[in-house]
Amino acid sequence: MKYSLKRNSISSFFSGKSFNKPFVIAGPCSAESEQQVFKTVEGIAQASVDMIRAGIWKPRTRPDSFEGIGDVGLKWLRDAGRHFGLPVTVEVANESHITAALTYGIDVLWIGARTTVNPFQVQEIADALRGVDIPVMVKNPLNPDLELWIGAIERLQKSGIKNIAAIHRGFSSYENSMYRYKPNWELPIEFKRRNPSIPLICDPSHICGKTETIQYVAQTALDLNYDGLMIETHIDPQNAWSDKKQQLNPAQLIELLTNLVSRDQNTNNILQRGQLQDLRDMVDDIDEQVIDVLSKRMSIARMIGDFKKQNNLSIYQPERWNEIINTRTGYGSQKELSREFLLKLFNIIHEESILQQSYRMNLNDNHQHTAVESHQHNKQ
Ligand code: PEP
Ligand code: MN
Repeated sequence: MKYSLKRNSISSFFSGKSFNKPFVIAGPCSAESEQQVFKTVEGIAQASVDMIRAGIWKPRTRPDSFEGIGDVGLKWLRDAGRHFGLPVTVEVANESHITAALTYGIDVLWIGARTTVNPFQVQEIADALRGVDIPVMVKNPLNPDLELWIGAIERLQKSGIKNIAAIHRGFSSYENSMYRYKPNWELPIEFKRRNPSIPLICDPSHICGKTETIQYVAQTALDLNYDGLMIETHIDPQNAWSDKKQQLNPAQLIELLTNLVSRDQNTNNILQRGQLQDLRDMVDDIDEQVIDVLSKRMSIARMIGDFKKQNNLSIYQPERWNEIINTRTGYGSQKELSREFLLKLFNIIHEESILQQSYRMNLNDNHQHTAVESHQHNKQ
C-alpha cells in the first residue's frame, strides 16, 4: 500500500500525537543564492513535504571547501518558505548562529553530527536556547555513541526545550562500505526503545552519499517505523556547491515519495497472526540453539586458554584469526550470509573468546570462576 502523504504542521509532528507519517523535510545541503533557494523550494513545494531545510553555515571536513553563504541565506530561505507556506529549518552550531536564526524567524533548528559529538558546544547551544520556545532536531554524533546522542538531547531538555526530534544520519567508519556513513540500524532502534516519545527522523542522503540507494534506505527507515525523513534536494544537483552526489532534484524527490510503501505495524487478521506466531516460535527455538552453540564454543575457548597457559603460548595468533575470517566468510557465502555480517559476528565472538582465554591464563590455579565472573573481571 502506498503512503497517503498529507502535509503536517510542525506542532503536530513534535507533539508526536496526530501527524501523518512520514514527516518530510527536504531542501538543499547548502543555500547558495537567492535564485537557487527559491527555485528549489518552488520545486519541492510540488511534493507533499512538511518543512524546508538548508545549510547556512557548513561544517566541512577539509578547509577551502564552501563553508556556507552565511546570514544572508537565512532571509532567502525564510522568504521562500513563507512564499510557499512551508516552515524552514537550519543547522546551528554556536550562539551567534542561534541569534541570527531567531532574528530571521527560522521555525526549527537542528544540531549537526559534528556538533553533537562535543558536549562543550552542545552546552553552549543549550544555554543560548534557555527560555526560547523553538523546536530542535538533534543529529546523531559522527561516532556510534548512543549516550552522546542522548546526552545532547538531555542538555537541551534541561534548558527547557520541549519540542525535540532526533535525526539518524549514519556513523563514520574507517571500513569500506556501500554507505558514506554506515547506518548501524541497531543504534537508532535502541534510541527509539529508550526514548519512545521522541520523534525519529532518518536522513538517507548522508547515510548513502549517492542518490541511487536513497529510496532503499528511506524505505528501510519507514519499515522500522521511523517518524520522518530528511532528504537533500537541489534544483540542479550536478552543480551544487556541497554534497552534489547525494542530492535529488525535485522531480526525483516526488518520485521517491510516491514510491514509498506503507506497512502495517500489526495485523488483526487471525490467520496472518497465527502464521507470524509460527515463524516467531521457530526463531525463538533457533535463538536458543544459537546460545547453546555459543556456550559450547566458549567452553572450548577456555580449554584452549588452559592449554596455552600450560604450554606458555600467546593468546592472539594473527594467522589463526586470518584463517577464521577466511573460512567462515567463505562457508557463510554458500549459506546466503553476507561477508559484512559474518565479519561483524566473528569479531564479537573472537573478542569474547580472547577475553575468556586471557582470564583462564591469568587465573590462579586453585580458584575456578564462572564465565560471567571472568567477564566482569576483564571489564574492570
Ligand atoms: C547537512 O545536513 O548538510 C549536514 C552537514 O549534516 P551532518 O551534520 O549530518 O553531516
Ligand atoms: Mn549535506
